[in-house]
Amino acid sequence: MSERPRADPPEDDTQESEKMALFCQECGHESPMTGDWLVREGTDGYHVVCPDCGTVVVAQPVFGALA
Ligand SMILES: [Zn+2]
Repeated sequence: MSERPRADPPEDDTQESEKMALFCQECGHESPMTGDWLVREGTDGYHVVCPDCGTVVVAQPVFGALA
């Protein structure tokens, strides 16, 4: 809810990656890694799930206890 209006950079958006934002490719939902994604932990690792459409956005193996 804190989206800042800002000018579009001409062609350089390499700085975007520093924000660690995630996209849902299904519905376009966008939120930072610490945003409103649903994180499910299974035997095969973490799944980050879109809260809007339920698509798995990120699936990654368990690295160990990150909390
Ligand atoms: Zn989605």
